[in-house]
Amino acid sequence: QVTIDKIAAGEVIERPASIVKELVENSIDAQATAVVAEIKEGGISFIRITDNGCGMDKEDVPYAFLRHSTSKIRSVDDLSHISSLGFRGEALSSIAAVSQVELITKPADSLFGTTYRIEGGKEISIDETGAPDGTTFLIRQLFYNTPARRKFLKTAMTEASHVGDLITRLALSHPEISFQFINNGQSKLHTSGNGNLKDVIYHIYGREIASHLLAVDYESGGIRITGFAGEPIISRGNRNFENYFINGRYVKSNIISKAIEDAYKDFTMQHKYPFTVLHLSIDGETVDVNVHPTKMELRFSNQQQIYNCVCEAVGKALHQEEL
Ligand code: ADP
Ligand code: MG
Repeated sequence: QVTIDKIAAGEVIERPASIVKELVENSIDAQATAVVAEIKEGGISFIRITDNGCGMDKEDVPYAFLRHSTSKIRSVDDLSHISSLGFRGEALSSIAAVSQVELITKPADSLFGTTYRIEGGKEISIDETGAPDGTTFLIRQLFYNTPARRKFLKTAMTEASHVGDLITRLALSHPEISFQFINNGQSKLHTSGNGNLKDVIYHIYGREIASHLLAVDYESGGIRITGFAGEPIISRGNRNFENYFINGRYVKSNIISKAIEDAYKDFTMQHKYPFTVLHLSIDGETVDVNVHPTKMELRFSNQQQIYNCVCEAVGKALHQEEL
């Protein structure tokens, strides 16, 4: 079991940011309204994720670390779980296989909490404790038992920036959840969770961008697109500012990027790329999910429709003053 978990971990856990991603997605699934992600040394030596979600009962804790154990019933078409597709119930077992894990968890309706320790896939202890409602995961010494893999990690600074980017995207995709990111004891990001996307954009990108946003609100043929398109004057030097989410999930798609850029074609961009934060809601059946889950690339079965909708939605926002 331990060996199989180590191999499986290679698929899911590439770097500290992959752990943070899996744990925070679990927090979101657990209905948390506030999540704190703290790392030290880029997350290589220390990751702590704290949420105020539903917590786990003591008897469920060891079970959650077994491979293929999940409390979530999912259908293959369920787009909201695209990135964990194929890895159902594998995150915790994979993380525990390659690090030293301490878990403190307590459901609100339970009298006591549970502290659980598991290292390199071996259970160390399970105890009753006093704890706040919710769940805290502590992950120490990533890849301590797989030195070959540890060698592939980049510098702490690079790994930390991957985690920061990830939290940024999670904050943009879930304005209704408060996210805090702490790197080496310094708070880098702290969103309010008040549900206002513009507030989150202001927090992350600052005043210049937040004060030049055009609202996107579009619906056609089962595709709904909301969010913001930046005015052409705040265009940036690379594609990194084209943010878009499909059913709450951050993705990369050449089709969508192209559609966004084409919508700006009528404006002088001087080889620059637009700023956007777009939320697309699409029927799960129209998206091909047969793509490696840890990669964010995905393909659509109806590319042309997606292209047209995005281009039209953004174009409409850009031209709204002229109407
Ligand atoms: P999956 O998310 O695919 O179910 P995981 O290995 O990520 O698999 O998690 C296993 C189980 O552990 C989850 O199904 C859930 O029941 C429980 N769990 C994990 N993280 C949390 C959390 N933060 N709060 C409550 N329950 C959690
Ligand atoms: Mg999970």
